Amino acid sequence: MLDTIISYINQGTEKFDNRYWVEKDRKAEFPSEFLKSIQELGLTTLFLPEEYGGSGLSVSDYVRIVKHVSSIHGVAAGDLVMAHNVFGAYSIASLGNEHQKEKFLPRVAKNEVISSIAITEPNAGTDTLNISTHAERANGKLVLSGRKIWITMAHMSDLMLVLARTSKESTKSTKGLTLFAIDPKEHKNITSSRIDDIALRSLGSCEVFFDNVELSEDDILGEEGKGWRALTGILNLERLSTASISMGTGELVLNLATQYAKDRKLFGRQLGSNQSIQFPLAHGRIMLEASWRLIDEAARKRDSGEDGMFEANAAAYLSAKSAYEIADHAMQVFGGMSFSIDMGVELHWRNLRLFRVGPVSEQMTLSLIARHSLGLPPSF
Ligand SMILES: Cc1cc2nc3c(=O)[nH]c(=O)nc-3n(C[C@H](O)[C@H](O)[C@H](O)COP(=O)(O)OP(=O)(O)OC[C@H]3O[C@@H](n4cnc5c(N)ncnc54)[C@H](O)[C@@H]3O)c2cc1C
Repeated sequence: MLDTIISYINQGTEKFDNRYWVEKDRKAEFPSEFLKSIQELGLTTLFLPEEYGGSGLSVSDYVRIVKHVSSIHGVAAGDLVMAHNVFGAYSIASLGNEHQKEKFLPRVAKNEVISSIAITEPNAGTDTLNISTHAERANGKLVLSGRKIWITMAHMSDLMLVLARTSKESTKSTKGLTLFAIDPKEHKNITSSRIDDIALRSLGSCEVFFDNVELSEDDILGEEGKGWRALTGILNLERLSTASISMGTGELVLNLATQYAKDRKLFGRQLGSNQSIQFPLAHGRIMLEASWRLIDEAARKRDSGEDGMFEANAAAYLSAKSAYEIADHAMQVFGGMSFSIDMGVELHWRNLRLFRVGPVSEQMTLSLIARHSLGLPPSF
């Protein structure tokens, strides 16, 4: 089945070449045509259970598809597949109450939903527990106020997962956090404004303002006060997804640089015959292979219900770092030509830089591994 999906992806998305992505990024314009194609191929409902019209795929198959899409189209394309499947299909199907399933899943199945996740705030990125967005009870409602930043696709979102504090006593603790699943288009006092940025420009990331937004109990995803627990499963899948996006895009850039190193003739020989050009490419190939083994193992563990946190963290760390190093070397291989936006090399370089900072920064990942695998004190 996987081979069939992969061959459909190759045929169905062939027309979205490098020029397409360069133009979308240059104009900061949403890739609607590409989204329509992957929706038709069923790539936005991979995690939707079959009873709702999705594929109900395993994580192991899902990461292969995300990697493959990214290896042809890069980071923005992989991110689109992730957002639909992880923040949309998976979150509601696995954590949603009956109201949320009824409200969102039929629309997810009909490809009417663009999903986003709103965690980061101006004073709470890696310091997530410091969030100040809060929801308080008043007149039988939960009234949400606060401000989020860097929320990808918030401005076009039909389903937004929002992390807020619902208990003042437990500030700075994982207790008292609640996750909400809401349709921002239903609330006029949720507003967003785009940030002029250098990564994922075609998708767009935003500041989002919640000004006394009236929500009900039905909007709580999982249990009130236990949003951290609900978030853990979602963020683990997000981590595996970004690892696969880095891995796929790393392959894409490696292929571009290798081909250029073969084609470009300097000093009467192939550019790629020089060790300082070819060794980093060979090194990149090894690092990607190692990243893939970790992603694959983390996905297998997740499918079989084992704790794959070390592998998921290690995979996200290694693939992000390796893919960015490949892209950085590709800038060297292409020389002056890499600075031409039309070449489409710097686009991958910029986009891949993101995964060393977010969704989880390198330092945070190392801190988690130091703490949980080596027993060292917490450094965050
Ligand atoms: C293009 C883009 C899209 C994004 N999309 C989303 C989204 O859709 N939803 C969402 O919720 N968020 C999103 N983010 C936010 C992203 O997850 C955060 O930027 C990331 O978690 C880092 O948080 P911060 O920017 O607040 O950095 P800070 O927390 O301010 O940290 C700054 C730097 O210091 C390091 N640092 C911090 N503390 C320590 C320490 N104790 N020891 C060592 N180093 C430390 C960090 O690792 C980081 O490198 C996005 C960001 C970008 C740029």
